[in-house]
Amino acid sequence: MDRETLQRDVLIIGGGPSGLSTALHLQRIATNLAQAPRILVLEKARYPRLKLCAGGLVLDAEVILERLGLDVNEVPHVDAENIHFDFQARGLNIRIPKRHALRVIRRDEFDNWLAEKAKSRGIEIREGETVKNIIPQADKVIVETDNGTFHAQVIVGADGSNGFTRRCIFPNAPVYTARVLEVITPEYNVVASPSDSEWQSNLLAKLKIASGKNTPRNNKEAFFDFFPVPDNIAGYVWDFPTQINGKPMRCWGIYDTNLLSNEKRPQLKEPLAQEMSRLGFDLDDYEIKGHPIRWFSPDNPMSAPRVLLVGDTVGADPIFGEGISIALGYGNLAARAIRDAFERDDFSFHGYKTRVLMSPLGQTLLARWLITYIIYPLKWKWFQVLLWRILKPIVIVVAWIFVLNWGRRMPKP
Ligand SMILES: Cc1cc2nc3c(=O)[nH]c(=O)nc-3n(C[C@H](O)[C@H](O)[C@H](O)COP(=O)(O)OP(=O)(O)OC[C@H]3O[C@@H](n4cnc5c(N)ncnc54)[C@H](O)[C@@H]3O)c2cc1C
Repeated sequence: MDRETLQRDVLIIGGGPSGLSTALHLQRIATNLAQAPRILVLEKARYPRLKLCAGGLVLDAEVILERLGLDVNEVPHVDAENIHFDFQARGLNIRIPKRHALRVIRRDEFDNWLAEKAKSRGIEIREGETVKNIIPQADKVIVETDNGTFHAQVIVGADGSNGFTRRCIFPNAPVYTARVLEVITPEYNVVASPSDSEWQSNLLAKLKIASGKNTPRNNKEAFFDFFPVPDNIAGYVWDFPTQINGKPMRCWGIYDTNLLSNEKRPQLKEPLAQEMSRLGFDLDDYEIKGHPIRWFSPDNPMSAPRVLLVGDTVGADPIFGEGISIALGYGNLAARAIRDAFERDDFSFHGYKTRVLMSPLGQTLLARWLITYIIYPLKWKWFQVLLWRILKPIVIVVAWIFVLNWGRRMPKP
């Protein structure tokens, strides 16, 4: 049977936050371009699809979604009232007056919701279609999937940290990749009732043992602890509230930028096990999942003629691996670059990298990249104590000005 060949103006490869944000922003700023059949999102999975992610949505993500006319309150979520940035369980506590400090969603639910919104605005999404080959030509890009062939004026690589688009178009690009592990456990202080399962009763028993030394944490708080840094793990252990099918749970994990990979390091799961054990959980009782995060560096390529990269294919925040708000922000900039390319009939995308770096998103990414190269290589215990416990006011001001609050400064869709 012949494979179908379809023509599209804009082909977005990957239907995660970066790809869907690109489509939704295009729909706002160049409505004619964003209607079927001119635009198509190719997504290899089917929604709601699993995506390993702690689901922490920072304020900037909420701002970008709100400006797209979307109400993220519709997505099941848990709000953390406080965020702690600690070194060895003591440090900085952030609370934002009159609102939550961090909203936590599950990515299967969030991405499904975003995809439904895109579809309801006339954007075509083909699910279960995997891109297998990309051939850029002077007058078009040929994209081959497991089902057919597409000819597009422009393609957008939104296929994540391991994305095929980046590997195909920029095979020799530098790769800055963090290692990440994630674990889901019950909440703290599970009160066993007769209907509870054996594991819940066991957990309660463990928490009672742990509480002799440590006060169990508040389920409404999120924690980052940078205690593994002196052991050459250039990152932190996290512990967030979350929910799965409406049931309150905790999401734990460990993030390592790999910046200190030339030094001797423990196995990644060891610090995570240590922290969980301190709080009464045994890592061996839970399933560990891992996935890399490609992080932003100014030397990462962002475009080629007729090709734009967005989201993790360019790079997430290097300090924390925070990438949802960043992915949504890339979508805003890519949509503008696509609109301008069609208006000028110039698909070189020469100015895209400058456009990204000069934008509020690019400025926060550059600041975070610089901070990453300070706080992790200066790995000594005294420096980490100084940073998270003593220099608190300075850290808060730097974070407020350079790390957060970029979403409001992005161009309005
Ligand atoms: C363990 C872990 C925890 C994290 N926690 C957080 C957090 O708390 N907060 C936060 O902000 N960020 C977090 N991140 C980062 C965040 O998940 C990413 O930055 C974000 O998902 C990037 O969005 P994206 O759209 O660029 O890519 P993705 O979300 O990865 O989406 C890419 C899409 O492309 C599709 N795709 C891939 N290949 C193909 C192909 N060949 N053809 C068609 N489709 C394809 C995939 O199925 C997927 O749907 C975490 C990441 C990990 C690994």
